[in-house]
Amino acid sequence: MPELPEVETTRRGLAPHLQGRRITSVTLRRADLRWPIPGEITRLLPGQRIDAVRRRAKYLLLDTQAGSALLHLGMTGSLRVLDPRTPLKLHDHVDVALDSGQVMRFNDPRRFGCLLWQPAGAIHPLLEALGPEPLAPEFDGGYLFARSRGRKAPVKTFLMDQRVVVGVGNIYAAESLFRAGISPLRAAGNVSRERYAALAAAVKDILAYAITRGGTTLRDFISPDGAPGYFEQELSAYGRAGQPCPVCQTPLKQRSIGQRASVWCGRCQR
Ligand SMILES: [Zn+2]
Repeated sequence: MPELPEVETTRRGLAPHLQGRRITSVTLRRADLRWPIPGEITRLLPGQRIDAVRRRAKYLLLDTQAGSALLHLGMTGSLRVLDPRTPLKLHDHVDVALDSGQVMRFNDPRRFGCLLWQPAGAIHPLLEALGPEPLAPEFDGGYLFARSRGRKAPVKTFLMDQRVVVGVGNIYAAESLFRAGISPLRAAGNVSRERYAALAAAVKDILAYAITRGGTTLRDFISPDGAPGYFEQELSAYGRAGQPCPVCQTPLKQRSIGQRASVWCGRCQR
């Protein structure tokens, strides 16, 4: 599944081809992906200029004067900018043609992705309850400390809650907690301000690093367990249950926390 760094990499790859371009037509080869594709996509988008290509959590937004196309890659979605004469492949569901003569093509075999509409000046309900971006300045130790007071849920579950902060998936939660030396089982309300500062810094470092490493065709680098291959060799905890801790050599523990496999060092993480 594409995680935040892959979506940000996709955004950075698309933006130079899309920004400032006018949409000449939209072709839908089916009426729905995960959800029905709303009529505004074909009714309002053609003729509009793409002012910006933004990311919010794992959603991509193509902003125009009329509103924004809201895209999610789901489990298997991908976006490519191509010559429109490129032969169609199976699962090429949507073409957005541009005045550059190119076309942005949305492919999604499993169709957990979506293409929705956000009217100008409105926030789509899917985006409404989301917490801050992990790389934004307002996401810091003080924020995590304040949000977590009185919370008995494990800190790992708290960190993966999209209402607390977006885009910290299982891999990034495991790695950040390892780096900050915090046990994933500790109650969120029982982590000090100082340790939350270390955790927020670890989240930012690890995500920013993954983004800098994400400049290739990621789909070709996804390993069988879903970990992005380019990052996998550098993981300290995720996917390493039973192997020695890279710091103290104690075998890493594994347990399901909030229905997600969790690996940590019982000695380094308290
Ligand atoms: Zn250790």
